[in-house]
Amino acid sequence: MKKKQKEIAIIGGGPMGLAIAYQLTLKGFKPVIYEADNRLGGMTACFNFEGLDIERFYHFHCLSDFEFIKILKEIGLMKYLKWKETKMGFYYDKKLYKWGSIDAVIRFDKIPLLTRIRYLCHAARCLTIRNWNHLDKITAVEWLKKWLGKSGYYKLWHKLFEYKFYHFSNEISAAWIWSRINRLGKSRKNLKEKLGYLEGGSKQLINRLAKIISEKGTLINLSTPVLGINPRKDSGANITTSLGCKEYDLVISTIPLPLVGEIFRHSGIDQKITSKYECLDCVACACVIFKTRKKITDNFWTNINDKQFNIPGIVEISNLREFNHHITYVPFYMPETHEEYLLENKHFINKAWDCLKLINPDLNDSDLIASHCSRYRFAQPVCSTNYQKKLPPKQPFKGVYTVDTNFYYPEDRGINESFSFGRNLVDQLFP
Ligand SMILES: Cc1cc2nc3c(=O)[nH]c(=O)nc-3n(C[C@H](O)[C@H](O)[C@H](O)COP(=O)(O)OP(=O)(O)OC[C@H]3O[C@@H](n4cnc5c(N)ncnc54)[C@H](O)[C@@H]3O)c2cc1C
Repeated sequence: MKKKQKEIAIIGGGPMGLAIAYQLTLKGFKPVIYEADNRLGGMTACFNFEGLDIERFYHFHCLSDFEFIKILKEIGLMKYLKWKETKMGFYYDKKLYKWGSIDAVIRFDKIPLLTRIRYLCHAARCLTIRNWNHLDKITAVEWLKKWLGKSGYYKLWHKLFEYKFYHFSNEISAAWIWSRINRLGKSRKNLKEKLGYLEGGSKQLINRLAKIISEKGTLINLSTPVLGINPRKDSGANITTSLGCKEYDLVISTIPLPLVGEIFRHSGIDQKITSKYECLDCVACACVIFKTRKKITDNFWTNINDKQFNIPGIVEISNLREFNHHITYVPFYMPETHEEYLLENKHFINKAWDCLKLINPDLNDSDLIASHCSRYRFAQPVCSTNYQKKLPPKQPFKGVYTVDTNFYYPEDRGINESFSFGRNLVDQLFP
C-alpha cells in the first residue's frame, strides 16, 4: 500500500491531536480526527465568558517554548505572540509579599536568611541540571527538604504540593518539579521574568491549525467520542463511534491514558493491558474565573500559603494580556474522588471569591462582574518516581499508538511539549 493511501485516525482534538494531524498533512496524509467535545482545543479550549472568548484554563508561554514558536512561524501567527515582564507574589500568613526575584526572596523575613539563600541556590542549581535521571529516583519532597531544610520546605512548598496533589504529594518525582522550576527560570531576561501570550488566545492557534489541516484534507468529527478500539490482526484498529465502525491502518490516540484504559476495557481487551492505563493517577481541576472592576494584585502569579483556603495560587491573566476588565483564574486542583470535588460549582466560586477578598481587602462584592467554573477530570497527571517505567507501551498493538501528556515526562503538560511530541512521533513513524 502506498503511504499516502494509509487510513489514519487521530483520537482527540487537543493540541497534541492537532499537532499530529498537522505533521501528517505536511507529509501528504489525510487523517481523520475524532473529538468528543463540540469544539477543538482540549484543555486549551475557549468558552464565551459573558461576551469574552477566553480559555477555560489559564495559559501562558515561556521564552524556552521553542517548538511552539516554530509552529507559530510555520503557520503565520508569530505576529500575535507578545511578551511581557511579569511579577510574582506570595500570600503568606495574611500578607502579600513580592516573590520570584533575588531581591524579593532575600527580603522575605518569614524564614531564616540561610534558608532564603538555600532557596536561591536551589533555583540556580535547577538551571544547570542537564541530566535528570537521578531526580527521577527520588521524590520532590525529599529533594526540596534536602535543599531547604524541613522548616523551609514546610513554609515555602508544602501547601503548594498539598493543594495540588493531596494524598499523592509524597509520590511526586523530583524530576517533575525540577522541569517546572527550570522552565520558568529560563523564561527570564536580565533576571526579570518574561512570559508570553497569544493575542486572541489559544483559539487563534487552534482555529488556524484546524483551517490548515482541513484545507489539506483532514476530516474533523466534533462531538464524536470514540467508544471502541478493536486492534486488527495485521495492523491498525477498528474504531467505533456514533457514526459507526471504521477500519484504520494506523490509529493514534492522544486522549488521557486512563480514558484509553476505559475504552480498551469496553472493547474487550485483556485486563493485563487495560490495567496499565487505568492505574495511572490524575488530579482534576475546578478552575474558577472572575471578571472584576478592580485588579487583585499587580502580579501575574501569586502563590498562596494559607490555612483557610485550599488554593495553591491565583493567576491574574489581565496582568499579562490586556482585556477590558480584570480577569483572574483561581484553580482548585484535587482528586476527582475528593468529597469537595463533588460539590457544585457555586461552592468553588464562593470560596475563590472569599480568597480574593482576603488577598485584596479593598475588593468588595460590587467589584464582581462575572464568574464561571470549568472542570477537567485529567488536568494533572501524578508523575511519581521512576515514572517512565510505569507508563504503558506507546504502541500496545501494531499500528495503534496511545500517547498523551504523560509521555513527555518529566516536562509538565504544555502546548509546547504536546507540539514537540507530535512532531517527533510523526517523524519517527514516517522518516
Ligand atoms: C489549569 C490548566 C492550566 C494550564 N496552563 C498551561 C499553560 O499556561 N501553558 C501551557 O502551555 N499549557 C498549559 N496547560 C496544559 C495544556 O493545556 C495541555 O498540555 C495541552 O492541552 C495538552 O494537549 P493534549 O492534546 O495532549 O490533551 P488535551 O488538551 O487533554 O486534549 C485531549 C482531547 O481528547 C478529547 N477526548 C477525550 N476523550 C475522547 C474520546 N473518547 N474520543 C475522542 N476525543 C476524546 C478531549 O475532549 C480533548 O479535546 C494547562 C492545563 C490546565 C488544565
